[in-house]
Amino acid sequence: MTSVLLPETAARSIEVRREIHRHPELGFEEHNTQRIVERELDALGIEHRRVARTGVVGVIRGAQRGRVAALRADMDALPIVEDSGEACASEVRGKMHACGHDAHTAMLLGAARELQSARETLHGAVVLLFQPAEEGPGGALPMIEEGALDDPRVDAVAMLHVDSRLATGTIGITAGPVNAAADEFHVTIRGKGGHGASPHKAVDAIPCAAAVVLALQNVAARETDPLAPIVVTIGTIDGGYRNNVIADRVKMTGTIRTHDAELRAGAEAKVRRIVDGVAGAYGATAEVQMLYGYPPVINDAALAASFAAHLRERTEIRIEAPVPTMGGEDFAYFAQRVPGVMARLGIYDEAVGSIHSGHSPQFRLDEAAMPTGIATLVAFARGVGDGSIAVPAGAR
Ligand SMILES: [Zn+2]
Ligand SMILES: [Zn+2]
Repeated sequence: MTSVLLPETAARSIEVRREIHRHPELGFEEHNTQRIVERELDALGIEHRRVARTGVVGVIRGAQRGRVAALRADMDALPIVEDSGEACASEVRGKMHACGHDAHTAMLLGAARELQSARETLHGAVVLLFQPAEEGPGGALPMIEEGALDDPRVDAVAMLHVDSRLATGTIGITAGPVNAAADEFHVTIRGKGGHGASPHKAVDAIPCAAAVVLALQNVAARETDPLAPIVVTIGTIDGGYRNNVIADRVKMTGTIRTHDAELRAGAEAKVRRIVDGVAGAYGATAEVQMLYGYPPVINDAALAASFAAHLRERTEIRIEAPVPTMGGEDFAYFAQRVPGVMARLGIYDEAVGSIHSGHSPQFRLDEAAMPTGIATLVAFARGVGDGSIAVPAGAR
């Protein structure tokens, strides 16, 4: 069986994607996008409610008994000046859908159209999760807190993310950790200011900061099992006044990315020990502040395997198992509550310039991938509903 979409589904989905792409909105400002989603759901006759300020939950109830699948799409854009050259480029300067969330939302609406029109043969129910603020500060957790997974009670959840590592038409499904925990840290080094010509009468925060930056590389290089991924990146460094003044203070910020819970929990102590130790060696003092972000996305192994096998058996879609990334995704919270799969949708195609990675001002999305995405979402919902995709028992 191949997944053949209704004739109008792909065209309408692409049209909606372009409409959203022209009007990008940042996290928790997705008022226009929310109205577009509601307008489309109304046109399809699908019940919906607002959650998490700018989010929407829709529910499709099948005529047959079965399990409840949830499908999640994020809706927010990024503060980037678009330079994609796309005909439907952003009309709001400084905001851009550079992560493909416009397509995620439009594909979920496409899947909703398919599922709603097949309600008579649909088993169980499908919860449509239109989520705000994935790029920050995070809309998944407030949606869960407002009961998005409870009414009806969701048995399994899936999402798609566009991925320029995979060719258009390919779906990536990998078991286990697929995205990283994304934690933030702030370091302040305090020395003693003075005249640039008299270093011996001051405590220079700048060489101390330089030594801290280098020493922090040891967390990944020398203190962690090379088979367990960790990233420690210093993203900003700021200090000093002018060429002949010794800086009394340097501030730095960075991100730590991990897949493993134990490694994540231990990283803060390593950073603190190194920063404090190096600062002490230089006669300076230091403060470290950790800000914990999204947990890692862990795909349920059994659900991921069953979903991939289902697609291989029943569709023509090419399935791969791409390696995990160190990116962050707050879908992690949904997948902590119920068995979940974050799947990837290939969009790489040189012929249409869809070659840049997400968050690039040149990011372009190959819309030819969207029918594959819609078919994949529909297959998950139907398969979970009628039991042909195995949902781990007693998950919550
Ligand atoms: Zn992103
Ligand atoms: Zn994204």
